[in-house]
Amino acid sequence: MTFIIKCVDCGHNAPYYPTSTNCPKCNSQWREAEYDYEALAKTLPAKLATRPMNLWRYRELLPLRNPNISLSLGEGGSPLIRAVNLGMMLGCPNIYIKDERQGPTASFKDRQAAVTVAALKEAGITEMVAASTGNVAISYSAYAARAGIKLWAFVTSLVPAVKMREIALYGSQVIKITGSYDECKQVASEFARQRGLYQDMGARTITSIEAMKTIAFEIAEQITAIQGAGENTPLRTPDWYVQAISGGMGPIGIYKGFREMQQMGWVDRIPAFASIQAEGCAPMVTSWKKGMEKSEKVVSPKTRIETLATGDPGRSYEFLRKITDDTKGVFESAPDEDAFRAMHVLAKMEGISAEPAAGVAFAGLFKLIRAGIIKPSDTVVVNCTGHTMPADASILGENWSRDITIPAKEREDSTPREGLLSALTQVAPERFPKIAIVEDTTEARRLIRRILQSQGNFTILEATNGREGLELIQRELPDLVILDLMMPEMDGFAVIEALRSKQETATIPVIVATAKELTPDEKNRLGGQIQSLMQKGDFLNDEFLEEVKSLIK
Ligand SMILES: *Cc1c(COP(=O)(O)O)cnc(C)c1O
Ligand SMILES: [Zn+2]
Repeated sequence: MTFIIKCVDCGHNAPYYPTSTNCPKCNSQWREAEYDYEALAKTLPAKLATRPMNLWRYRELLPLRNPNISLSLGEGGSPLIRAVNLGMMLGCPNIYIKDERQGPTASFKDRQAAVTVAALKEAGITEMVAASTGNVAISYSAYAARAGIKLWAFVTSLVPAVKMREIALYGSQVIKITGSYDECKQVASEFARQRGLYQDMGARTITSIEAMKTIAFEIAEQITAIQGAGENTPLRTPDWYVQAISGGMGPIGIYKGFREMQQMGWVDRIPAFASIQAEGCAPMVTSWKKGMEKSEKVVSPKTRIETLATGDPGRSYEFLRKITDDTKGVFESAPDEDAFRAMHVLAKMEGISAEPAAGVAFAGLFKLIRAGIIKPSDTVVVNCTGHTMPADASILGENWSRDITIPAKEREDSTPREGLLSALTQVAPERFPKIAIVEDTTEARRLIRRILQSQGNFTILEATNGREGLELIQRELPDLVILDLMMPEMDGFAVIEALRSKQETATIPVIVATAKELTPDEKNRLGGQIQSLMQKGDFLNDEFLEEVKSLIK
């Protein structure tokens, strides 16, 4: 492998040793790997064609002298999943999720740990120190276990106990610090210095940045497989890359990956980067919005999302700010509550259970689409950075389960009896409010049904045109009607008039859901007849469900 380490500050080139963390000339800790891009542009494509989809298919672009992949746990090669339901809900059909939960320890830190631990093993290192908000320590612990390296894991006391126990399970020593993450890093650093141990340097760790890069390579290959090659290049890139950030290592590394592909002539453009922080710890967002060159610090973060609790990003902000501005991207923040809500939406609409930190990325995505910054026609890749396992009780809230106790005497008998069956009626759907969806588009019907079912217990009735809908409503007398306007046979206006003219149906609340802009005349015709008007695409708003719940009472 031919590569050199170039100092970002003075340009000095040096060979790579994991333990020499500073530029020999100017002492800077910010250095990056450089490869022979001209040669690789020619030789690598043929090799890639024959290699499996994992991180090591890009091994010529990783800073290892002798890539020995015996430590591999199957990192990289995560799927790019089309978010069909979310896309429909948001009116933005090309949303893709880079599912980094599928890494060996269920977060994108696995890439960083796989490459860094391989480099440490190559260098004969047997002990290391890392400060972590949880996931880094879990990942490093797994790979360190395989490499026979001892890890001292410094974590803040706010890291969920399940994560701490997992770190310990891999045989690492957990050291719990009651203090902020930035303080935790200082303690870890002092410990490493006193003992002369290798310590993880966050975004200054060359191997970590290089590892993150592989996400960009994969995204380009995967988007190309879906949308075809670029205009003048073999690979295509999305319009946006969206990620929740703490220290910003992910986007810094991933940007480098896109830049290298550009240098090799594989892609002709780099996506806009959207970096999302938790509102209670968003120093980069506030600094960027104020146009500051250096980042403010948040001394005591006010977020429950510990994974994203870097209050002092240091120089990472300067690099990420440049990336953001060069790509016409944005920094944005989202409150914890929005992130928790986004977790629910993602799980219920797409079957993806993500951790709160990843929820922040999706909350940011929703915000950027609503603000019109991400356009409906844009292709967006959101990094789903980590899995929530198990779901924290505070995220689920009350009433997430229904309990049935079977009377003791029923248990003695193997055939179900009355007591058992009557217990079941407590959860039987007949007792739930009835909602009729009258809508001719199958996809829209499915989406509305899915949104309603995921948020409460309703009995959903469906009709595919106005006439059928009217019959259904007259027969079933539902608690609420969700009605489309443009339909064959009988349009929504006629349905409303028919309902209002009969006593039994005159008071059934109606929400009109329509994709079209109404003319003033049409609005007049609806005036006073319906309870609410929703544009399709508005469904993500909590107002829709609030509206449904309030109308049903
Ligand atoms: C570390 C982490 C982040 C933040 O990543 P950075 O790029 O280092 O800021 C986001 N989500 C999850 C799940 C993480 O583990
Ligand atoms: Zn230097």
